Amino acid sequence: MNFILLGPPGAGKGTQAKKIVEKFGIVHLSTGDIFREAKKSDKVISKILLSGQLVPDKIVVDVIKKRLERDDVKKGFLLDGFPRTLKQAEELDALVESKNIKINAVFLIDINFEEAVNRIAGRRVCKCGANYNIATLSPKKAGKCDSCGSELFQRSDDEKNVFRERLAVYERQTKPLIEYYKEVGLLIVVDGLKDKENVFRQISSHALAFMQ
Ligand code: AMP
Repeated sequence: MNFILLGPPGAGKGTQAKKIVEKFGIVHLSTGDIFREAKKSDKVISKILLSGQLVPDKIVVDVIKKRLERDDVKKGFLLDGFPRTLKQAEELDALVESKNIKINAVFLIDINFEEAVNRIAGRRVCKCGANYNIATLSPKKAGKCDSCGSELFQRSDDEKNVFRERLAVYERQTKPLIEYYKEVGLLIVVDGLKDKENVFRQISSHALAFMQ
């Protein structure tokens, strides 16, 4: 099964993605993770991420193209953070068609603007991948990860003026994808305001239906 996760920054895509790939035994393809890794050695990517803007379509599509050539995606994959523009969605359509595979569903984790702002402002992360929120999901010991004890930090692109830009970019460039996938009958909207276990149940129940 091949799925796409769509939603604004702060919707919980990363959290849900981890749970989905674990449950369904498919591969997690996060362009955000790929570019966060790339930014360590690539000054251009680093600058783009710190501005809250999108990496150019051509670069992103090439990354995904290469990634989809690897054997592990044959067991199914979950695209998290891709596509993010209409151009990327069209390129993905052509790519999956050429590979004779299909996207089974696009899950939109639906949250409103205020919720997105609150969640990103409070988000703290750990180098081990754990996520917290100082308002709603604080660690047992302030500033320390429950799992590995490391110091928590704020993602640099979560800082105030950058996340405002990321939300604006989402509204402008990514939101049109909702209509795009609705028209082709792939869109499944889940209520992202519910707690994460509930959101996961909503997604899982739809995903399971594709397995039968
Ligand atoms: P994310 O963790 O998905 O919010 O991604 C972090 C940053 O990586 C974004 O703000 C973009 O700068 C870049 N990025 C991730 N995915 C894409 C994409 N599909 N297209 C363009 N830029 C992307």
